[in-house]
Amino acid sequence: MLAQESEDRRTCTHVAECTSDVAAERRPSSRNPEQDLFQLSSEVHAARVVPRRIRVPSASIPLSRDRAFRAAVSSLLLRGGWILTQNAKREVLRGDVLVEDGTIAAVGTVRGGADREIDCIGCAVIPGLINTHGHVANTLLRGRADDMPLEKMLEVAFAADAKLTRRDVQVGALLGCLEMLKSGTTSFVDLFYWEDEVARAVRESGIRGFLAWTVLDPDKTTQRGTPVKNAEQFVKKQKEHRLITPMVGLQGVYACSEETYLAAKDVAEREEVNLHTHLSETRVEVYEHEKRTGMRPVEWLDKIGFLSPRLSAAHCVWVTINEVRALARRGVAVAHCPVSNMKLASGGVAPVPEMRAEGVTVALGTDSAISNNALDLFADMKVCALLHKATRWDASVMPAQTVLDLATIDAANALGRGRELGSVEVGKRADLAVVDLRTPHATPFYPDHLCSQLVYSCRGADVRATIVDGVMRVGDGRVIGVDEAEVLGRAQEIAVELFG
Ligand SMILES: [Zn+2]
Repeated sequence: MLAQESEDRRTCTHVAECTSDVAAERRPSSRNPEQDLFQLSSEVHAARVVPRRIRVPSASIPLSRDRAFRAAVSSLLLRGGWILTQNAKREVLRGDVLVEDGTIAAVGTVRGGADREIDCIGCAVIPGLINTHGHVANTLLRGRADDMPLEKMLEVAFAADAKLTRRDVQVGALLGCLEMLKSGTTSFVDLFYWEDEVARAVRESGIRGFLAWTVLDPDKTTQRGTPVKNAEQFVKKQKEHRLITPMVGLQGVYACSEETYLAAKDVAEREEVNLHTHLSETRVEVYEHEKRTGMRPVEWLDKIGFLSPRLSAAHCVWVTINEVRALARRGVAVAHCPVSNMKLASGGVAPVPEMRAEGVTVALGTDSAISNNALDLFADMKVCALLHKATRWDASVMPAQTVLDLATIDAANALGRGRELGSVEVGKRADLAVVDLRTPHATPFYPDHLCSQLVYSCRGADVRATIVDGVMRVGDGRVIGVDEAEVLGRAQEIAVELFG
């Protein structure tokens, strides 16, 4: 939804998303912007949920804890589930998944044991879902701008966003990470300033983060220094962590000049990382850009040489078939955000069937909690299927299997990680979710309808276990390693401070 925000921001001296560092200096002393989560971390660790048969390490530094955790459980066996592999044949198997040292070591019938076994009878074992567009720290603004005309919603969002401190961003990001883990999401793409704080939440929670530091024109931001240099520094600093893939992000054509786009691309090529941007989200964005440059946004980005396989672009609602073909030709992936697009009532539906037919890799994204309001990809999968059926008058368009592809293997491909993520196959990283099928809303169950069941009947709350890189982050439906109640309490406190 930030695209719409920024349409309005064009008239402002500063872009609201980047006013926070200034706002932090204005804050009352009771809200210390420099306070960070180390304090929270130590409290969290003291009250950590103790998983069965796992020795809980005493270290209070997140990375140490994580290493110790991994050392304690080097193998996991998911026993007796229905495995929705998402392999090339889209096979559904009955059996076991063995995880060793973070990698899927066997799929099928596994003899012998493991450090820990998870009973998956009556459950589906699926690839962890991948959320390809959002602004995770904006969970703190959830519910603050509902059922409003766009302009009014933007006013609320700007005012709130400008008050956020670094500490708020840490807590908001951690809250969003927990929400995603609990609903089976194992990877997410984030577009934000202060991605270093989001990175901290990633390390705390153990989710996999593709983190894009937002770049925009220097005269439209209050980021200290130059945004593109900030992004470069962030990328250099975060490259080494196994769960963090740094990226360079761009706000959109309304906030980024040709020079900014090309400078960002230059950094991405030099550092060998990917790019992420908002693109053609609303009619206003497209018409304004056309008025200014004589070209539609995709055409313009193609002309300046920005489009490439490094790029994933969120939304792409208002694109022509020629623009779709340009995206396909340049290998650009699209993050489709149907719930956000519908809730903001911006009109239009991204032409996903045409994109796929032309060879564009399309993935699914929630966008932020201001415009969704949840980060539950199960809900978004269902909405995605229904939106396209309803608007095309065609019940067979966007079938369940396609939608599940958008949230798993196609999303992995969109991020250039299809060889490692997105399916349950030997040799891939063990990013998995276990979904309970023994619920009233998922009964009766037929194995050959498993995919439909997951898309149309199941919910994020049905997720019993979530495993990221071989480490169980949710077990028995509860977050492991972080005190969820503590995070919820902190988020509520901040919300009251901000809005109460
Ligand atoms: Zn967005």
